[in-house]
Amino acid sequence: MIEMNKPAIEGGRPVREKILPFAPPSIGQEEIDSVVEVLRSKWITMGKRVVELENRLQSYIGTKNVIVVDSCTAAMHLTLLANNVGPGDEVIVPSFTFTATANVVLEVGAKPVFVDIDKETYNINPEEIRKHITPKTKAIIPVHYAGQPCDMDEINKIAREHNLIVIEDAAHAIGARYKDHLIGHENDVCFSFYATKNMTTGEGGAIATQNSDVAERLRTLRLHGIDKDAWKRYAAEGSWYYEVKEAGWKYNMTDVAAAMGIEQLKKLDSFIRKRREIAEFYSKNIDQELFTLPAEARYAYHARHLYPILLNLDKLKISRNHFIEAMLKEGVQTSVHFIPLHRQPLYQKLGYGNIALPVTEDVYSRTVSLPIFTDMSVDDINDVILAVNRIARYYRK
Ligand SMILES: *Cc1c(COP(=O)(O)O)cnc(C)c1O
Repeated sequence: MIEMNKPAIEGGRPVREKILPFAPPSIGQEEIDSVVEVLRSKWITMGKRVVELENRLQSYIGTKNVIVVDSCTAAMHLTLLANNVGPGDEVIVPSFTFTATANVVLEVGAKPVFVDIDKETYNINPEEIRKHITPKTKAIIPVHYAGQPCDMDEINKIAREHNLIVIEDAAHAIGARYKDHLIGHENDVCFSFYATKNMTTGEGGAIATQNSDVAERLRTLRLHGIDKDAWKRYAAEGSWYYEVKEAGWKYNMTDVAAAMGIEQLKKLDSFIRKRREIAEFYSKNIDQELFTLPAEARYAYHARHLYPILLNLDKLKISRNHFIEAMLKEGVQTSVHFIPLHRQPLYQKLGYGNIALPVTEDVYSRTVSLPIFTDMSVDDINDVILAVNRIARYYRK
């Protein structure tokens, strides 16, 4: 019996023969048919399928305007520009996020200001936001980490008091709810449809905004600064005329990608229900003495894009990095979300090396994201639980 519970890294038999991937997308026949139809139509770049995806996202989220682009990074870049954030401005962001969240701030010539996260949700801590506001602060970019919404009432209140713009990084949070509303119904909100995200177009993103002026600017900026999109330019009879208003970008989505997104959006709610079931199963079965599990905030409907667990290192004789290696030996791929940005060479070079973010540091040193994806089987889920508990119990202090 003892032998059977020996982790593979110590010479025991691995839980799985074949490696369980971390987050493959769920692509059905519907997506394939829809993409093939676009290819056959010969209209493969931005056109009516992009417009259809925008309309569907608008009614799904319940917002006035949705503009789709080719990534969430592009979405955030353009949203900063559309809100006139630029040189001389400071933008408050968490360090515990993907690099795109802060890189876009640098791209528009503004300065990212990293603040610490909350111990329970791993989301940006509103109290820490308050402490870092200066006369130069122009915007806040809260990130709905792992699909758990930030406490938006608190953040919006701070923004109102200090006249700040709120741009939400909702790369993980399409379909997540804060209180009674889906993320995207207020502020300017950026979504990602990257391959690993809750719904995908391969590469893709979108901005939801209630502000029609921002929406108009975004539509212009995503396509060279031309004030009409390609579809309108070419599809309308004899309409060859266009005007360039400013030096924009080439950030539009293609109809090929949008066709996939339309089918993914139809399935999104069921995708999230499945993710929530997996998360619930993990939460019930993973050893809660040896790990701290990601709880759902009382105000939230968590989209469960990620399932990050923290090792209770005081009770374990194993480091996080060693644990990840041991998981791989069991046949389970895991990941880390995220390496804090102030630790990255780029931001070290820019002088962020010595800032103190104790909660971020602590969470980073202990976090591991477990596989969670729509097509996981019950066996896959059980394998993950078995591997996690077996390793931790073997290395219990
Ligand atoms: C994935 C991700 C992004 C970037 O999304 P892209 O669509 O790949 O540009 C931004 N922020 C966070 C938190 C992410 O996880």
